[in-house]
Amino acid sequence: MNGVGFAKGMWVTLRHFLETYVDDVRYGFRKYAPDLDNFETRQGVDAQGAFTVQYPDEKVAVPERFRFVPFLVVENYDHEERPGKDWCTSCGICAKVCPPQCIWIVRSNDPETGRPVPEPEAFFIDIDICMNCGFCAEFCPFDAIKMDHDYELASYDRTTNHIFDKDKLSKEFRYWNTIAPTRAVEEAEARGGWEHKDVQKEARRGGSTRDKKADAARAEKREAVRARKEAAAAPKAEAPAAEAAPAKEEPAAEAPWNDDEEQKRKRREAALRRKAARAAKRAEDGDS
Ligand code: SF4
Ligand code: SF4
Repeated sequence: MNGVGFAKGMWVTLRHFLETYVDDVRYGFRKYAPDLDNFETRQGVDAQGAFTVQYPDEKVAVPERFRFVPFLVVENYDHEERPGKDWCTSCGICAKVCPPQCIWIVRSNDPETGRPVPEPEAFFIDIDICMNCGFCAEFCPFDAIKMDHDYELASYDRTTNHIFDKDKLSKEFRYWNTIAPTRAVEEAEARGGWEHKDVQKEARRGGSTRDKKADAARAEKREAVRARKEAAAAPKAEAPAAEAAPAKEEPAAEAPWNDDEEQKRKRREAALRRKAARAAKRAEDGDS
């Protein structure tokens, strides 16, 4: 019969409207109590009627698999053997699979031997471009990049403020354990747990004098780079507001995305020369 569907739809709306008040009466003012679990219940699937969350005074707890921008997992800062050590090995897989290509990684080199070291010297993510797909976290073979739950990242600066560097991205493992306890345990089990032979091997390596020396040298190098960057940024910060105004949108001079076309061309050419040299060496090694 014509109009039955319409009447049913209206009844659903009316029922929600009435249930909202019935629920309000049932809960009274308890929803304003500071330690309420009824808040979680009322905005959950068992809730009756319409329930408005008074954001930002009230916040709905996000589910464990909620994902916002990624962060890098580092060892807990009070870890006995490897405090603050990156889990990331700078393998570059996340940067490759990232659909909008918003990840930029620079691998570390040993300052003594010049050989590559499996940890990132720099790691950037442009969070304005990141589409929160979670591919980077899915594909990372070392569980070193995870999707964060912190969604309040708005700011008035649309330039460098939203390009997160390694310091901004790095968070302790215990943070991941807090926001996603079930997944953290599942992943640890899948890795073979802390007793896994690879984990033990790494722990032994971390204790050797040679590696400690290399770690100290790398930390020193990182400090020097940071100090140079701060020194370069300092005059801008001290400049009077009127003079500083035209330059306020400019990113730091060292930032690779700030290179002009000439610098980019030079970097491309240098990279191609290095690539050709490596290919020639490989061919030479193959011949011999
Ligand atoms: S895939 Fe994981 S280990 Fe590899 S660079 Fe990305 S975060 Fe680091
Ligand atoms: S969540 Fe997706 S878009 Fe964002 S950095 Fe990871 S792969 Fe790239």
